[in-house]
Amino acid sequence: MSLGVDLICETSVCSFNCIYCQLGAIQKITNQRKLFIPTTTVMEDFQSSRWQESDIITYSGSGEPTLATNLGEVAREISRKTSIPQLVLTNGTILTDRAVIQDLQNIQRTYIKLDAATEDGFQRVNRPVEGITLHFIIENILQFKQEYHGFLGIQIMFLPSNFLQLENYVLILNQIRPDEVQLNTPTRPYPKYWHISSRGGHSRELRRYESVPLRTISLEDAEKAEDFLRRETGLNIVSVYQHADSKTLTER
Ligand code: SF4
Repeated sequence: MSLGVDLICETSVCSFNCIYCQLGAIQKITNQRKLFIPTTTVMEDFQSSRWQESDIITYSGSGEPTLATNLGEVAREISRKTSIPQLVLTNGTILTDRAVIQDLQNIQRTYIKLDAATEDGFQRVNRPVEGITLHFIIENILQFKQEYHGFLGIQIMFLPSNFLQLENYVLILNQIRPDEVQLNTPTRPYPKYWHISSRGGHSRELRRYESVPLRTISLEDAEKAEDFLRRETGLNIVSVYQHADSKTLTER
């Protein structure tokens, strides 16, 4: 059970504009950090939530959580109240910013997105702010890994196009050697418009909004990819495909 903490909340703000993003087209594509929601407001909301029931507290929500300048402050405040572990899902675009590294040291687990293993694929799927390349992201991850004290995961949103990039993934993952690799899949449709409910796990509510269907991949193919990556890297590979309905494994 994960409690999601959204430090952005106002619209969708991210340094990527992924083709499958559950938020729909990102409204503000930026790499600039700022304060979106004051820490006192976040903590008031946290207190009034059912946080005691959660196994983990996850920073994600309405965009890229490391863009919020109070990420570390909120993490420290929450740590004062509970030892429930905290996790951040990030796209890794500002991982070498000193302030971001310090913020993330307060969070036990960092999962970094790696949805493509070629430059073309990266630009096509993640559509980052101008100037960001896959090479830059990988360099960021390698540098971050040297300093980060916590658990480092790589999260791959596995799309049909990734099949052609498996050899490249092996090279990159063997270079990074993360603590875990998660093979994930976009199970929610791509909304045509941003709506606050699209940021969380309430897909039933989301389905009331207009959305674009996504192409599917078979469970069999997903398992082949998982076995290949495990064999070629020896890494701890965790796959959501083992539990997913093949009809929901998708790409636009
Ligand atoms: S990094 Fe996350 S929040 Fe940003 S566009 Fe991609 S899926 Fe959406």
